[in-house]
Order: sequence, then structure tokens, then C-alpha cells
Amino acid sequence: LVSRKWKVQRTHLDLGDGVVIGNGTLSIMAGPCSIETEAQVQQTLDHLVKNGVRIMRGGVFKPRSSPYAFRGLGVDGLKMWHTLARKAGIKIISEVMQVSQIAEMHDYVDVFQVGARNTQNFNLLDELGRVDKAVMIKRGISGTIEELLYSAEYVFAAGNEKLMLCERGIRTYEKASRNTMDINAIPILKEKTHLPVIADPSHGIGIREYVEPVALAAVIAGADGVIYETHQKPEEAASDGQQTLDFKESERLIHKLRKLHELR
Ligand code: PEP
Ligand code: MN
Repeated sequence: LVSRKWKVQRTHLDLGDGVVIGNGTLSIMAGPCSIETEAQVQQTLDHLVKNGVRIMRGGVFKPRSSPYAFRGLGVDGLKMWHTLARKAGIKIISEVMQVSQIAEMHDYVDVFQVGARNTQNFNLLDELGRVDKAVMIKRGISGTIEELLYSAEYVFAAGNEKLMLCERGIRTYEKASRNTMDINAIPILKEKTHLPVIADPSHGIGIREYVEPVALAAVIAGADGVIYETHQKPEEAASDGQQTLDFKESERLIHKLRKLHELR
């Protein structure tokens, strides 16, 4: 069902209020790895509004390698974020880690993000197939393109066609970067599926200085959007500061992304 053999026309997602993903647009989604404080959320929203970005990313349930690391503010943080984001006219994408969180989060998100550690959580995918909300599935840490497409098939087959995919880098033998951003996956996915394809250069390379060139490469490769991490003080971020842009870097990236997209 997610194959272009089945549906030639490309899918686009309408999140309302003029926010569309796909359909020739370039979607920019930016925000911190984790939602931390009200002040942080407001500063991020101000930064996005100033630059005409309509979707804010951020985690409230965080999949951390260590159980002792910051694990997120939970649904209370999401409610605070939602109140401020609605006032600013900004949409919310946030990771759902388990089935029980779908109902808790439902009224406060515009897009459910399935993280790389949950790409093959088939119960979660089945349940997301039954909600009336957009879903973005990230590629598994060691997942193949085919496995990502099968994960999308779960959601689509269960009835939810508001779906997009995200290349976020895969684990390889290379140690010079956090993950290996698979730019190859972007044109391949665009050929194989009618779903929008998003690139996550922050997790894809994991090093702040290189997020920009990887993001630009993804746009040239045909991505429908870019999702990346930004924070008012990356060095103080509760998670993933090493790959997080400050607002100046973020603003520069937004300008470059839009310029490049016009040329595509
Ligand atoms: C994130 O987006 O902060 C995240 C945890 O991403 P991934 O699932 O790709 O590791
Ligand atoms: Mn992160």
C-alpha cells in the first residue's frame, strides 16, 4: 500500500492552518531534543515564528541509552508546550514510545513520531494505524530501507494514511560520526514510496558543525523536509547538545534550505 506501484500520486499531509507536508513544499521542523522548561519552549517558539517555521519538534518521553539520563517531562510538559505552541500558531511533533502514551498524547500533538528504537514495535504501529493523526516513522538504528517500508505498511494497512518516513542515519562500522546518514535512502525511498520523506541530519551525523551540510545534501537528494535539533544554549541542553544548533546557526540553515529548495 505504501508502494508507488499501488499509488502513483504522491501523498501529502495537511496538518491544518496552512501547514502541508509534501506536495512540492519543503517542511522545516526544528526544536530541542527534549522539552525542558517553559522559558525554553517559549524561546524556541519565538525563534520559529521569527523565521516562518510552522512545526516544532521536541521529546517529552525520551529513549535514553542510560536509564540515569534525563528522560523527559512527560505529558505535563507536553500540555505546557501545547498551550504555548497553539498561541504561537505552531504545530507539534513528538515521540510516542509505547501504546499507552497514544491516548495521553493524542490531544496535544499534531504528529506522532516513532523513534528509531521503535521502528519495529509492531503493536505501536498497529495502534497508530487507528488514530486520526499524522505519524512520522524513523528508520531503525540498524534497519534496512525495506524494513522501514514494512513498518509504514503496518500503519497504512491499519487505516492511517497520514504518514511520512524519516532517514535519521544508521549504525555502521564508522566511528567518526554518531550515525552514518544514508543519503542514498532518500532518492530510493522517493522512488519506492508515495509517502513524504524527511531527513534528520542531527541524529544522522551527530556533530553540530556538520548538521548544515548534511541537511543541504538531503534537500538536493529530494527530501520533502528536514527535522533538526536547536536550542537557545546547546551546551546546556538536557540531551543531544553536541548535535544541536544554536538559534543563529538554525536561522542560517533555514535560509540556506529555502534557497536550495527554490533551485531544486
Ligand atoms: C529524537 O528525535 O530526539 C530521537 C530520539 O531520535 P531517534 O529516534 O532517531 O534516535
Ligand atoms: Mn535527540
